[in-house]
Amino acid sequence: MIKFFFKIIASFLLLLSLLIAYIFVDFDDNSPQKQEKSTIVNDITQLNPIEVTRIIQPESIEDIVDAIQSSTGPISIGGGRFSQGGQIAYPDSIHLDMRAFNKVLAFDATKKQVTVQSGITWRDLQEVIDTENLSIKIMQTYANFTVGGSLSVNVHGRYIGEGPIIRSVESIKLIKANGEIVNASLTENSTLFYGAIGGYGGIAVIAEVTLNLVDNVKVKRYTEKMSVQNYKTYFSDNIRQDQNVIFHNADIYPPNFTDVRSVSWLNTNESLTEEERLIPKNKEYTWQPKVAKFVADSNFGKWMRQHVFEPILYNFDAVQWRNYEASYDVNELEPSNRSSNTYALREYFVPVESFDSFAIKMADIFKKHQANIINVSIRHALPDSGSLLAWAKTEVFAFVVYYRQETSEAAQQEVKLWSQEIIDAVIEENGAYYLPYQLHASTEQFVKAYPRASEFFELKGKVDPDYRFRNKLWQQHYKANNKQHDGSTDE
Ligand SMILES: Cc1cc2nc3c(=O)[nH]c(=O)nc-3n(C[C@H](O)[C@H](O)[C@H](O)COP(=O)(O)OP(=O)(O)OC[C@H]3O[C@@H](n4cnc5c(N)ncnc54)[C@H](O)[C@@H]3O)c2cc1C
Repeated sequence: MIKFFFKIIASFLLLLSLLIAYIFVDFDDNSPQKQEKSTIVNDITQLNPIEVTRIIQPESIEDIVDAIQSSTGPISIGGGRFSQGGQIAYPDSIHLDMRAFNKVLAFDATKKQVTVQSGITWRDLQEVIDTENLSIKIMQTYANFTVGGSLSVNVHGRYIGEGPIIRSVESIKLIKANGEIVNASLTENSTLFYGAIGGYGGIAVIAEVTLNLVDNVKVKRYTEKMSVQNYKTYFSDNIRQDQNVIFHNADIYPPNFTDVRSVSWLNTNESLTEEERLIPKNKEYTWQPKVAKFVADSNFGKWMRQHVFEPILYNFDAVQWRNYEASYDVNELEPSNRSSNTYALREYFVPVESFDSFAIKMADIFKKHQANIINVSIRHALPDSGSLLAWAKTEVFAFVVYYRQETSEAAQQEVKLWSQEIIDAVIEENGAYYLPYQLHASTEQFVKAYPRASEFFELKGKVDPDYRFRNKLWQQHYKANNKQHDGSTDE
């Protein structure tokens, strides 16, 4: 009888542990550690696994020079791995994983300047500069990205009166394809400066970066709802010239794309509603990804977001430090797995005067293809200071599109269709699409959106004559523009 009882208990415990394992163990574990061992480099979407020959994690400039000079084949470079189309890897390349190259080398609080190794993340850098109440001048909304990856993409954020990150860079130290170390800035080796920033690892390794900083201030949130047609006037009357606005964006609500909510954070002296100076690292995000899934799952979810969740959220006053608002963690978006569907981004830039016409064209294309758009965030940027692959050729509005797609081949083809249609619409407006995302643009579209691409390729030919710095982006567009590389041994 006792034996029977123990058997029942044992079976019960076994069943319970299986159930717990089922709920809590992620059977689709795609953690970077696993990939490291197998020499497969992938990005956050998990759509672009690329087998490289070797992964090197440099910790010093000498390690990088040595990796370049002791090898002869292709070299790919990866930072935080948040680009989404194979921009970080190339088959059978030596992959430089820059994330361990992450020290602060010099910090002058009086001069408001910091020099870092390029693999440091914004979040780690914030930890250091916050002690002197200083902030990063231009960065993305989230803080997980590396400084080198951000410069190579020439990123932007929600800052008013700013634009591409190149506007905040004092100087960089580059390692060229022959291992030579050179400094570059607006006044020294400026062609390299304008090529490497926004150059997607095609010109040189960005090793060290000196950034200009600004004061950390308290900011208060203000939001307003309006129709998309009224946004451009609202922006120019209320936001563009207001020196007190630090962050601003406006979210267009899918699936109708007719209403927009503007969210601005203004300099304030009011008391903080959030005492933390930075969002804690390694915070657990339990409900946020579930809400994102709920919104993505149906039009009802999207209606709930617009008419219930956000009105409640924005009903509360929010006063916090600039650094707190700049320290978001992408984990708040991360689904439990990305095997059958994945979340991705797109971004389109149009001259400010084209805002209305592009907004209509974009919405029509999304509706026609029934794309599952979760959010379209509008940002503003002043023109680029001269990078060869500038996306802000003039003053622009950016449309940042966050969407969910299935991972099947058919679904990827459908995404390619709407992506190419929107790129055509952007080119009609004399704008550009953003390059860190899936590589669906044709080379013809790329050259139209980035008219100085030929200068970039000419520079690449000069400084990297053996075509060592490679990735999927340059495989797609560089070869097609440089006939001497056709037939090379890169396939
Ligand atoms: C959730 C999410 C939110 C985002 N938000 C924004 C946003 O608000 N604004 C914005 O502009 N972008 C945004 N992005 C895009 C993202 O900023 C870019 O992908 C950026 O590159 C991320 O930096 P990373 O360190 O992940 O770079 P990676 O993706 O690792 O690398 C990007 C490119 O830089 C090259 N590279 C990396 N390090 C170096 C180096 N040291 N030297 C030379 N080349 C190098 C790589 O080869 C690659 O071509 C977002 C992406 C995601 C997934």
